[in-house]
Amino acid sequence: MKDLLCSQFQETVAESLIRHKGMVDAMTKLQESVARVNRAIAKAANQCGCIRIVAEKQKLPEEISLADMQSLIDTDIEGQICENCRDVLETEIGSTLFYLTAVLNAVDLSLYDCLLKEHKRIKALGLFHFS
Ligand SMILES: [Zn+2]
Repeated sequence: MKDLLCSQFQETVAESLIRHKGMVDAMTKLQESVARVNRAIAKAANQCGCIRIVAEKQKLPEEISLADMQSLIDTDIEGQICENCRDVLETEIGSTLFYLTAVLNAVDLSLYDCLLKEHKRIKALGLFHFS
């Protein structure tokens, strides 16, 4: 049942692709869409101002466990994304998912299988999954 949405999405992407059906087009459109996600976040901070990106070195105690570290590390985002920026970001992320799925289709991989595999990997690594 859970893979039904992924399968339907993958089929819809396959049916709607005409111009970007090839791998090179799908790969470059995926790269472009990821850049647009980053741009949407930057615009939320720089133009709208609903969020603030405060990128600085995390100040952590010298002796700290991995479990404690997780609760002490802050995100570098302050504020709450507004409705307009949320809409733009969701659209750009949707486009990214579209082109990612196009890449998967080009090499005959399953979106659901990739999600499942990554989920299992993250769960197995637990706190050691730093990326
Ligand atoms: Zn905003």
